[in-house]
Amino acid sequence: MKILVCNVGSTSLKYRLFDLTNGEDTLSEGRMERVGTQAGAWTHKDAGAEAVKQTLPIPDYATGIRLMQVALLERALERMETLDCVAFKVVHAKGVTGVQLLDETVLSAMAAFNTVAPSHNPPYIAAIRQFQHALPNTPMIGSFETGFHADMPPKAFLYSVPINLYKTHAIRRYGFHGASHEYVSTRTAELMGHKDFKLISCHLGGSGSLCAVVNGKSIDTNLGLSLQCGIMHNNRCGDIDPYIPIYLMKDYGYTLEQVETMLNKQSGLLGMSGVSNDLRDVEAAAEAGNEDAKNAVESYCYQIQKQIGSYAAAMGGVDAISFAGGIGENSALVRKKALEGLAFMGVALDLEKNEGAKPDCELTGKSSRARIFAIATNEEIVVARKAKAYLLEHA
Ligand code: ADP
Repeated sequence: MKILVCNVGSTSLKYRLFDLTNGEDTLSEGRMERVGTQAGAWTHKDAGAEAVKQTLPIPDYATGIRLMQVALLERALERMETLDCVAFKVVHAKGVTGVQLLDETVLSAMAAFNTVAPSHNPPYIAAIRQFQHALPNTPMIGSFETGFHADMPPKAFLYSVPINLYKTHAIRRYGFHGASHEYVSTRTAELMGHKDFKLISCHLGGSGSLCAVVNGKSIDTNLGLSLQCGIMHNNRCGDIDPYIPIYLMKDYGYTLEQVETMLNKQSGLLGMSGVSNDLRDVEAAAEAGNEDAKNAVESYCYQIQKQIGSYAAAMGGVDAISFAGGIGENSALVRKKALEGLAFMGVALDLEKNEGAKPDCELTGKSSRARIFAIATNEEIVVARKAKAYLLEHA
């Protein structure tokens, strides 16, 4: 069974072609970073071959998809039609979650939430339509990022606004990064050797979220109706006082569009540092003495730290903390600063192991009661397994 998984991130396009017939073989995989710029970075690797790295303009997702198709047909696939399905790590749809065949009803439900997921839903819908056009007889299956959080209790998902907004407009906390949090929970359970424990899963990438997981189930997470809240993101603001936009619009004449662009594209690490939306650049600028960049890094880590404390309180303790995502896996500085001073609650990082850590690995300090891990998340395998189960169930 050949399944191509496409992961259209906020700044990246990752893909992996699996053969799940007998085992879980990866035939080909690749990632494009800095999508939307003239300086895109593309790595493509076929099984048994060296990775090919290129720097080239990837101005939009459509270009990225075309490049990917050409690369897959060179070696891994004879024809695109030999795929059993294309599976997508889709983000958000009104009234729809879990694993779904991406038909017109589901695409419309996704479009109905374009306003709350403006950086994610439109590129996803465009990518899915492009595949539907190229492969009209191949099923397109979506695994929604909200699925892992679907059983959160009302006290975690209801907002303190008039209850009618939930009842009539479906305004509630949904949570995202479900595939990553699910992978991290499962992998952490393997490393812990048992399943019943309290975990804080920190998925830190271009978008980031934390999730409180009790015995493998999400009980709370810090993304909401949109991906606009929680900790700051690469260029999105995270939690801010909801009166900031109202004040700017009423007293300073900002338009709705200006406020939306500011919150959605000009804030977060980019907006605070004035340097870049990529933490690597912001860390380098901070190191070189840029005060705004230093504040951005400090704030980013402080926000993660406060969320960890809050989830430890919500769960009545914490047995494990796992870091994943481009930042969680690679930034020793973020892991160190986020966990600094948490010895009072039994959390202490091994500072030596933390430097240059290669996930998957354990970073638990000697005095720590909670175990700490860096995990190379694999959202694609979670999506591929779900797509396979769907195809078998609906065969
Ligand atoms: P997305 O959320 O777009 O899918 P990723 O999970 O791949 O993205 O995370 C991308 C982010 O990871 C980049 O914006 C960059 O800030 C960060 N990152 C990648 N490598 C490093 C590194 N070595 N040090 C610090 N940050 C890194």
